[in-house]
Amino acid sequence: MPELPEVETVRRTLQPAVGAKIVAVWDSGKPLHMQRKPPRKKLRSLIGARITKIRRHGKYLLVDTDTPDSLLVHLGMTGRFLIVGEATPRANHTHLVLWLDDGRELRFVDARRFGQLDVVARDKEKQHAALSILGPDPIEHGLDGDLLYTRSRGRKSTLKAFVLDQGVLAGVGNIYASEALWKAQLRPTRRAHKLTHDTARRLAEAILEVLHNALDNGGTTLSDFVNADGVEGENAEYLWVYGRAGEACLRCKSTIRRAVHQGRATYYCPTCQTP
Ligand SMILES: [Zn+2]
Repeated sequence: MPELPEVETVRRTLQPAVGAKIVAVWDSGKPLHMQRKPPRKKLRSLIGARITKIRRHGKYLLVDTDTPDSLLVHLGMTGRFLIVGEATPRANHTHLVLWLDDGRELRFVDARRFGQLDVVARDKEKQHAALSILGPDPIEHGLDGDLLYTRSRGRKSTLKAFVLDQGVLAGVGNIYASEALWKAQLRPTRRAHKLTHDTARRLAEAILEVLHNALDNGGTTLSDFVNADGVEGENAEYLWVYGRAGEACLRCKSTIRRAVHQGRATYYCPTCQTP
């Protein structure tokens, strides 16, 4: 599933769309996330709007226009948000096409349909069901040990669940949670409320490092992820622990283990990630 670095990679590669005017809109009418159909009427209201900025909060993209509204996009599991020439054949599972006045199109393609599309009024965006629950974005808003320390007080969940909680931090998912906990040498099953100032600082630094590394490599492609130009990311080659069960730890040579926590795979080193 695309996480912060993948969505930020899409945001950056969508920049050529800024300044273009949306001249027509098409949607598939097929239900997306939570069986909700694309909001056709709201999407059509974008016709005539000029794209002024493309923002991101956690895993959500916001396409701002010169109207009071923005297009909200979540890639879900398999979503792709592409900028293509109009002659490019339309892929299977295309659910939204925005025709631009420069001859290109923005297309949302999603095979498994866990993605989301909506149109939100910017002055009410903080009340939107999807956005109102998000904590700060570690790249956009910064992250330090104090923030993690404060937010972990009274939290009896595991560190893994704490880092994955989008209300704590927006954008970190399963891959980068495993990576950051390995980097910080913290066992994923430790309890969040037991973080000290020192371990919270280590974890904050590790989260920023794994996110920045992934961004530098254009995101992690395990199966579906591509940037807005259709190009896969290269970060999968640089993962320290995720997906490496049975292989030697890159720090201490112990064998990396895979465990399942709350239905999600977690990778860790039993030796150098202290319980
Ligand atoms: Zn190790």
